Amino acid sequence: MSFFVFYSFIFILGSVIGSFLGVLAERLPREKTIRGRSECDYCGAVLKWFDLIPIFSFLFLGGKCRRCEKKISPYHLWVEIITGLAFLAVAFYLFPYPLLGIDLQIIGQFLFWLFLASCFIAIFFADLKFYIIPDEIIIAGIAGSLAYWIWLAFGSGFSLISIEAWRGLLFSLLAAVLAGGFFFSLNYFSRGRWMGMGDAKLALFLGLALGWPNILIALFISFLSGSIIGLGLVFFGRASMKSQVPFGVFLTASSFACLFWGEKIADWYLSFFR
Ligand SMILES: [Zn+2]
Repeated sequence: MSFFVFYSFIFILGSVIGSFLGVLAERLPREKTIRGRSECDYCGAVLKWFDLIPIFSFLFLGGKCRRCEKKISPYHLWVEIITGLAFLAVAFYLFPYPLLGIDLQIIGQFLFWLFLASCFIAIFFADLKFYIIPDEIIIAGIAGSLAYWIWLAFGSGFSLISIEAWRGLLFSLLAAVLAGGFFFSLNYFSRGRWMGMGDAKLALFLGLALGWPNILIALFISFLSGSIIGLGLVFFGRASMKSQVPFGVFLTASSFACLFWGEKIADWYLSFFR
């Protein structure tokens, strides 16, 4: 299979999953059923299967409803494109051209990262739109991460070579306890004013997903980017100091970046102390 075909397939897969994630992020926070076809927000026209082809349907209809011709929000288009690009980034990183050697371990990591990217994107848009981080996604994310680290550790057996895999499992549990504990105490001592409960549950999931020390880098980047963008919005009059901050947006975006660069940033930072 040529690499062009492979990468195109990954992008299309991402946009199809993205259209599902867009629905999850829109319906889970409002406790709506995730089954059933989408409909137009204005006239209630039920969308047909050919209206649901990711990216293309929106472009083909010119961003308008087929029946009432009102403008459809480009929200779903964005989720589909971003998921497609996120999947493509994972594929480029883990399967660079020319590909040398492919084993079960790299396929497992590939599937795990696509899974994490999907969880991150659903949480990102739910928090951005509704200031809610759905428990369903957190639970799925925790279950998937645990399954991955356990598969990696037990699958590698007990030998000197397998130390790395066992370290992955232990350090993820450690990172989950530390990150979760830190956010839960922020929530407890501020009575929920500095940090919501949803953020605390998310921090626990992210600790488990990223492991140690990647979680530290992800938290550092989220606090930094969150305060820069927050202050920017206050400065330009788009928010006040009392505005609610969808911190899950920053946590998930920086966690995605840390899948790729977490260890490099950690090494670079630690090199100053050696
Ligand atoms: Zn309509």
